[in-house]
Amino acid sequence: MNCPHCQKSLPAGLAVAGCPFCGGDLRIPTISAGSEELSPPNRAFCWTIFWIALLSGPALAYLSLVAENDNTFLSSVLGGAVISGFALARRFSKTVRALVLKGILFSVAAAIVYTGIFFVGCVIAVGDWAS
Ligand SMILES: [Zn+2]
Repeated sequence: MNCPHCQKSLPAGLAVAGCPFCGGDLRIPTISAGSEELSPPNRAFCWTIFWIALLSGPALAYLSLVAENDNTFLSSVLGGAVISGFALARRFSKTVRALVLKGILFSVAAAIVYTGIFFVGCVIAVGDWAS
C-alpha cells in the first residue's frame, strides 16, 4: 500500500498509526456505521407512501384470499407492513441507524395492526356464516 499523503510505498504489515516518511495519519477513517445524517424527509411524500402501503397491503391480501393465492397473500401483508413501516420511519428519522431501527419497529406495529384487521374480518366472516 502507499501512503495517502506522500504516496510513498509503505512496507507491508506496517502497524503504526503514522507514515514513517511524512508522519501522516494512516488509520482508516472510521465512519461510525449508521450514524450518517439523512437529508430532511419529504413529509408529504413519506405520508403518501405510508398510507398507500398501509391500505393497499390488506386490500391486495384480501384479493389474494379471494383468488386463493397464498403466496401473494403473504407478500402483500409483508410488503404493506414493511413499506408503510419504513415510510413512517423515514418521516421521523434523522440518521440511517434510526431509520433501520424505527423501520423494523413500525413494520412490526403495522403487522400487528394487520393481524387485528384480519382477526376482526374473520370474526365478521364467521358471524355471517353462523347466522
Ligand atoms: Zn507519508
